[in-house]
Amino acid sequence: MMKPAATAHGLTKPAATLKKPKPIKATAPAAASTPVTDDQADDVEVRMYRAIYDSVVNQRLKPGAKLPEASLCELFGTSRFVVRKVLERLAHDHVVELQPNRGARVVLPSPEEAQHVLEARRGLEAAIVTLATQRATKRELADFRRELGKDHSAIHSGDQVTWARVATSFHHRLAQLARSPILEQYLSETLSRFSLIVALYELPDNPTCEHEEHERIVDCMERGDAAGAAHEMELHLRDLESGLLNKRDQPDTSLASLLGLG
Ligand SMILES: [Zn+2]
Ligand SMILES: [Zn+2]
Repeated sequence: MMKPAATAHGLTKPAATLKKPKPIKATAPAAASTPVTDDQADDVEVRMYRAIYDSVVNQRLKPGAKLPEASLCELFGTSRFVVRKVLERLAHDHVVELQPNRGARVVLPSPEEAQHVLEARRGLEAAIVTLATQRATKRELADFRRELGKDHSAIHSGDQVTWARVATSFHHRLAQLARSPILEQYLSETLSRFSLIVALYELPDNPTCEHEEHERIVDCMERGDAAGAAHEMELHLRDLESGLLNKRDQPDTSLASLLGLG
């Protein structure tokens, strides 16, 4: 989804923000048995994290997809130690789940978890749009409006992957305008969990155009109407959710077929 665009707009890269401090040499675990040096390991960790994270968020890797350690070692030319570290970090970020003796797979959110994510997103976005309305400068709002137009043409001229990448960039930018790093971080996590739910519950050929709803939100922001902007955001998210919930009522066509079991 948003990663390439998000980086261009200066948003935090998950791999970078979540990078742990380097272990002290003397106490570093058995990675010494591999020819991979610390710096190379860091680099491959970042690449692997981003490759998996981006593929999940862009919906190329579907919920439930297996991520065998041996294949990852081969694909990234690295050790099992490094692969496990990356998978653990992805599990911490709710992108993959680790099952004892059965390896890692892309998370498969249950309807109940999906509901929790939708709720959390509504709460976060209400807070974010309120702060963004109060804090964004006129100039930032003008840029924001311009980016909105670019997103709109990208959505209608691109493929599914482009759509997935662009679909949430409006919401990421809004979080930046709120100047609230913690809300921004929570939103980023919530949006990646949300995109898994979309992958699971939305019709694949039915990308929604959110443009008019986004425009209504920006209209309110330009008038300095925070309550109006929050209200429009609520309507927008409820609308997105109703598309998902409709799909959820037809389990025969969702889980099994998305998992290639149908
Ligand atoms: Zn449109
Ligand atoms: Zn939207």
